[in-house]
Amino acid sequence: MTEQQPRMNVESFNLDHRAVAAPYVRLADRKELPAGDVIVKYDVRFAQPNTAHLEMPVVHSLEHLFAEKSRNHSDRVLDFSPMGCQTGFYLMLSGDPAEEDVLDLVEATLTDITDATEVPAANEVQCGWGANHTLTGAQDAARAFLAERARWTQVFA
Ligand SMILES: [Zn+2]
Repeated sequence: MTEQQPRMNVESFNLDHRAVAAPYVRLADRKELPAGDVIVKYDVRFAQPNTAHLEMPVVHSLEHLFAEKSRNHSDRVLDFSPMGCQTGFYLMLSGDPAEEDVLDLVEATLTDITDATEVPAANEVQCGWGANHTLTGAQDAARAFLAERARWTQVFA
């Protein structure tokens, strides 16, 4: 697939996933709402597309941990949800935060995750598949991501 692809509606469908170098944090979308409020969406890419991926329990536990702990650092967090390809997450924030603040939020939250003693809400009452979790798996992925902190903003190889 080397020819130019037609322009698509979804921003990430216009990203050449062969050209990126995970891990990275990338501003994927910025929307100004009718009243003037701004919402931004960041890709938090853990694994190299089409080469590696996170196992589903790792994705699931990272989702729970990040969703819960990121809100201790910022009231801008609207959503943190997994990419279906299991290579990363979408982080949606309100307002128009500086990229450095977003990176600091990701760093602080992943550091919390490495210190966590349990996955929040990993039970049948608070989750749709409470048994499908791994704290150590999520922590290994968080540590690997943190180790590359210096090059998170370098999206392309
Ligand atoms: Zn869950």
